[in-house]
Amino acid sequence: MSFTDLGLSAPILKAVAEKGYDTPSAIQAQAIPAVLSGRDVMAAAQTGTGKTAGFTLPILEKLSQGPRPRANQARTLILTPTRELAAQIAENVEVYSKHLNLTSTVVFGGVKINPQMARLRRGVDILVATPGRLLDLYNQNAIRFHQLEILVLDEADRMLDMGFLRDIRKVLAVLPRKRQNLLFSATFSDDIRQLAKGLINDPVEISVTPRNAAAKSVEQWMHPVDKKKKPLLLTHLIKEHDWKQVLVFTKTKHGANKLTKHLEEQGINAAAIHGNKSQSARTKALANFKSGEVRALIATDIAARGIDIEQLPQVVNFELPNVPEDYVHRIGRTGRAGAEGTAISLVCQDEMKELVAIEQLTQKHLERVVVDGFAPMDSFPTTPGIRPPKAKKPKKEHQDGQRSAENSRGHKPASKNRRHTGQRSAAAPVANPSANKGNRRRPASSTPKSNSNA
Ligand code: AMP
Repeated sequence: MSFTDLGLSAPILKAVAEKGYDTPSAIQAQAIPAVLSGRDVMAAAQTGTGKTAGFTLPILEKLSQGPRPRANQARTLILTPTRELAAQIAENVEVYSKHLNLTSTVVFGGVKINPQMARLRRGVDILVATPGRLLDLYNQNAIRFHQLEILVLDEADRMLDMGFLRDIRKVLAVLPRKRQNLLFSATFSDDIRQLAKGLINDPVEISVTPRNAAAKSVEQWMHPVDKKKKPLLLTHLIKEHDWKQVLVFTKTKHGANKLTKHLEEQGINAAAIHGNKSQSARTKALANFKSGEVRALIATDIAARGIDIEQLPQVVNFELPNVPEDYVHRIGRTGRAGAEGTAISLVCQDEMKELVAIEQLTQKHLERVVVDGFAPMDSFPTTPGIRPPKAKKPKKEHQDGQRSAENSRGHKPASKNRRHTGQRSAAAPVANPSANKGNRRRPASSTPKSNSNA
């Protein structure tokens, strides 16, 4: 299938081609015709699937016909949970609409409201907004919805997690009843279904990733380590593997600041991004990370939500999240739209509960890979019911002493080690330490028996 088969007109196809996409992703192939048909859509799709273009392209197509927006009116409203995500969607809208005569703008909190009011004065075809700031603008008569045709709730699960349900309901209450609704969510919890009930009519349902499954192209494993050695292990990994661009997750804002300071002291350019940082500091940190000036971006879950950096190769969970779904969101930062990526978790004994919850949710064993010099005091047993994959015989070309798992784990610069996919779980070196001489990571056995020194 190609984009030309989807019912999009020349100016949009041109922008898509200029962006370098040749094949629609699965969500795009399904969502674009569904949105064009005018039906409501309910889509289970995590970030990284190409969902933004999935809803933006057909919306642009629809808006390219129809009346111009009047003063302070918006024809499409895209609600998203975070400022970063809002800014990114707005950027995408601009790129995809550059050959059309349509207007768009973005509004979010944490920055002055007056310039946003000024931008809304002439009306816009597409308004991207976070819920709180949108309501402020509405209450100040800066935005009205008499001409609203389409509503998008993006990352609806996250909006509920962040406590936006009341705000969303307030927004819904002031929208015209007759409109097209598109709801995108990584997961479909009962709360989301409840929200959808009052919102969506006879939707086309689309699901492109199994519920709570991680993107297939992300390789994942964990390094067991004692808590106080985590900062040093991270420094070691960054230097050892020469990671040029790594997104690191911490649980708390304080933890993000502390780790940033530690990395800076170790000569690694790092920046923190979290809710206590001003919008301009966050934007700057993200821009410096994208340009390569900042090597390690340290983020909390909420701040990192929706950060879109093409082909981010490396994600590290410095601490496991309290909520296992956040693990899936976090590793969704890498391996986006088919590109491969690696997600590594540094796990200490205090985090066994979180580890078990993640393995149960994803139904996937995270291989325990001990790094030389960082072996923890305690063991990491396997999660009951989640079996580690059996060690397969190494393939012929791997019998000459090359570690089959090595390339896939960031041993070489990122751009050269993306090729490896299927052999990770073959993991011959894991089962056979003698075949693994010289491997600096000295993996622990992933079988329950040998993994437990208890
Ligand atoms: P999203 O899930 O919307 O955040 O998109 C994830 C990433 O995939 C973004 O960097 C997009 O630029 C990229 N992308 C979206 N659609 C395509 C496509 N059809 N081909 C290649 N890359 C794409």
